[in-house]
Amino acid sequence: ASDSQAPTEARLRRKYEVEEAVLGKGHFGTVRACRLKSDPNQMFAVKTIVKATVERPELIRSEVSIMIKLRHPNIVRVHEILNEKGSLHIITELCTGGELLRRILDKAQTPEKRFSERSAAIVLRQILEAVHYCHSRKPPIAHRDLKPENVLFKDETETTLKVIDFGLSKLVGDVRMDSFVGTPGYMAPEVISRGYTLKADVWSIGVIAYILFCGFPPFTGTSEYRLLQMIRDGTVRFPSPDWDTVSEEAKDFVRHLLHKNESKRYSTRSALAHVFFKKAWSPTEEDK
Ligand code: ADP
Ligand code: MG
Repeated sequence: ASDSQAPTEARLRRKYEVEEAVLGKGHFGTVRACRLKSDPNQMFAVKTIVKATVERPELIRSEVSIMIKLRHPNIVRVHEILNEKGSLHIITELCTGGELLRRILDKAQTPEKRFSERSAAIVLRQILEAVHYCHSRKPPIAHRDLKPENVLFKDETETTLKVIDFGLSKLVGDVRMDSFVGTPGYMAPEVISRGYTLKADVWSIGVIAYILFCGFPPFTGTSEYRLLQMIRDGTVRFPSPDWDTVSEEAKDFVRHLLHKNESKRYSTRSALAHVFFKKAWSPTEEDK
């Protein structure tokens, strides 16, 4: 790595005490926790983007200005942006509850291997609310990289979820596949074949929903090529025995999110209105 790849952080360190421990790693580098020097009780997360590593630096300003405007209880709040010579620091609300991905992997180790439909509903509703808010803006904003690594629990109570990484996906050109954005396993068929629409985000939520309900992903392949082929050609299957105990409402919900045909695929609004959510909230036998 050359010197230009090392983050400049003089301005950041003047205002914040930055913790050494890395909270997470992404396309742009590391995310760390930091504390406001003037009020050490206030903690944040700082994502440092080394400008030299961004493929389309001219997009940073517009993308970041979009992020600042987003205000929703299920979207990580951007506190401030610090711009310095070689880096851009995005200071956001700190989430200490960990990634949804970790929770999915933990669940896979338990005998039931998956989320209960009620817990899945709690998770899916919050993701859909966040994405619905962005899709309803003028002009609409797509996330384009929805996956369980980009959904965090606000704190240890594991009740509130925050979607991170909104809008920033446009800044990265995927190194493997030129025009592709996102992570292959969560990518919609139309993203593979051409452009994408807001409905591509709904597809990604469908993939997350599928995994929550059964504990494994809907599309897998022995190579990335095979995986992409599966997504393009395959239909969603609900294999026995894992899906036998999943409700019809949950299956119907997933089917509508993972509809091949974009125009028939649910919008975030219709997904939120699906009977699956009403069923999941109704009292179960155990509650009676
Ligand atoms: P990238 O755009 O490069 O994927 P992300 O914003 O997704 O970067 O951050 C990478 C990882 O850092 C996340 O998956 C998460 O584990 C951690 N992280 C990001 N933002 C926060 C935050 N606000 N609070 C706690 N951890 C975070
Ligand atoms: Mg990310």
